[in-house]
Amino acid sequence: MSERDRTGDSDSNSDSDFDSSPDDETWTLPADLEAVREALVDWYEGDHRDFPWRRTDDPYEILVSEVMSQQTQLGRVVDAWEEFTERWPTTAALADADRADVVGFWTSHSLGYNNRAKYLHEAARQVEEEFDGVFPRTPDGLQELMGVGPYTANAVASFAFNNGDAVVDTNVKRVCYRAFDVPDDDAAFEDAASDLMPEGRSRVWNNAIMELGGIACQQTPRCDEAGCPWREWCSAYASGDFTAPDVPTQPAFEGSRRQFRGRVVGTLREYDDLELDTLGHRIRVDYAPDGEYGREWLRGLLSDLADDGLVTLETRDGETVASLRR
Ligand code: SF4
Repeated sequence: MSERDRTGDSDSNSDSDFDSSPDDETWTLPADLEAVREALVDWYEGDHRDFPWRRTDDPYEILVSEVMSQQTQLGRVVDAWEEFTERWPTTAALADADRADVVGFWTSHSLGYNNRAKYLHEAARQVEEEFDGVFPRTPDGLQELMGVGPYTANAVASFAFNNGDAVVDTNVKRVCYRAFDVPDDDAAFEDAASDLMPEGRSRVWNNAIMELGGIACQQTPRCDEAGCPWREWCSAYASGDFTAPDVPTQPAFEGSRRQFRGRVVGTLREYDDLELDTLGHRIRVDYAPDGEYGREWLRGLLSDLADDGLVTLETRDGETVASLRR
């Protein structure tokens, strides 16, 4: 049974780690939360988009990246961010700048509302004049800066000071909804995001979960292509239902092989291990050991899953036996 019962009513739980029902507000995170966290952090650290602001913990540089990316695609922000931080490398430099120059930069780089440039300029002045050149380190303190709302404050606290709360944006909601059946409810999303985040690791965690939503769990999910690290726990992957709060109807994608991979993972989650034919009959009604969708087909599917690190295959008494890799 999961240790994450949101109702506080133990009778309402089932034995499933994934018991969930939005109606009675019962949802759970997997019991092996540490493994879930580690899988995501490993995936993120193994390969992520290398934006220059992810290589710094300078709060000013991070604030500039956050303000710029509010309205502009991340890929396009890179050049503007590099130019901006080269021209005004510190809050002191920006505070000394002429506001017209800062606004002019914003306009010439198509960075959206000019107000954001004015606020950024003003925030730099505040840091210099009101905070003696030292950024506040907490989400609350950062919100005192001009134009810095709760989301940006939390992002800067996380990425500069490793001192933020769990980010809950559209991507994070989509991931939580699909993977752990968290209902479409802001309080539930806040709870789930915060329970998922490892204590004191907001910098890597918020980057990682946003990357998961941005690269793998997109509106049209790329579970296998992106090597999603949560496939073995993900409810949507097992059921094939990839709707989400911002994806009201099933996204159109080529799904049959993915669908069966999901069924294999979902089925193996219920059993310690299964022999080839038993598994085959459980995942498709037209399974016939020697037929088109038989052992050869299933071996291919399992071998891909084994290559992806999701499944372990063994031979016992001459029979192939599959289990989830834990
Ligand atoms: S397995 Fe797919 S649906 Fe589930 S969290 Fe990963 S990318 Fe999203």
